[in-house]
Amino acid sequence: MELKARIHSVETMGTLDGPGIRFVIFMQGCPLRCCYCHNPDTWDIQGGRIVGIEELIAKILRYKPYMDASGGGVTVSGGEPTLQPEFIAELFRRCKEEGIHTALDTCGYCSITDIDKIIPYTDLVLFDIKHIQPQEHIILTGKDNNRILDALKHIDSKNIPLWIRHVIVPGLTDNILFVNMLAEFLKTVCSLELVELLPYHNLGIHKWRKLGLKYPLERVLPPSEKNLNMIKDILNKKGIRVA
Ligand code: SF4
Repeated sequence: MELKARIHSVETMGTLDGPGIRFVIFMQGCPLRCCYCHNPDTWDIQGGRIVGIEELIAKILRYKPYMDASGGGVTVSGGEPTLQPEFIAELFRRCKEEGIHTALDTCGYCSITDIDKIIPYTDLVLFDIKHIQPQEHIILTGKDNNRILDALKHIDSKNIPLWIRHVIVPGLTDNILFVNMLAEFLKTVCSLELVELLPYHNLGIHKWRKLGLKYPLERVLPPSEKNLNMIKDILNKKGIRVA
């Protein structure tokens, strides 16, 4: 029987989620509840629309020339793609058969068993560290980060190139102590290629309202350029490459 999955949407010519021009698939369902999430409409695993793997592969292949010309590929994002591991594993396996680069964009809140299904066909992992401190992580996402950091160490042990993504939220993640803690942790990640610092924004606020949810960071403004540069400097001084 054909594999199917619940997806939220696709972006056919993405440039933000991995190298080159990418076909990005936003999967439905997420175990976290980040208070700055700009896609709360991906949270419900019963939401989105059901898509078959053949339909998706056929669509991906139409964009292969753009991927080939730009050094791009396919990225699965979300929501959280590892909630539908069999589908992602097969999708990536088929992409590899077609010579397409694959990237998994994950929040890391997943089981090692599920990661191991996907990793053999994955060229790059874009891994979110929401917060390095467990208690602060709970405030930010509703869960602590133990499982997430374990997943990261596991992926690292498989020598898969890793890009770490970290959202800078004024008052929540821009504290120098936390940035130094993050830097010390990242120094232990052998497969780390770079860190992407993502400035907090509130562009998803209308989606929260549409879902009848109260947006928790209503009064928080994006970080200043000065603050972002300061954080970048701290990481650079520890030998960590920041994109
Ligand atoms: S992990 Fe991503 S999709 Fe899930 S709640 Fe956080 S920001 Fe939203």
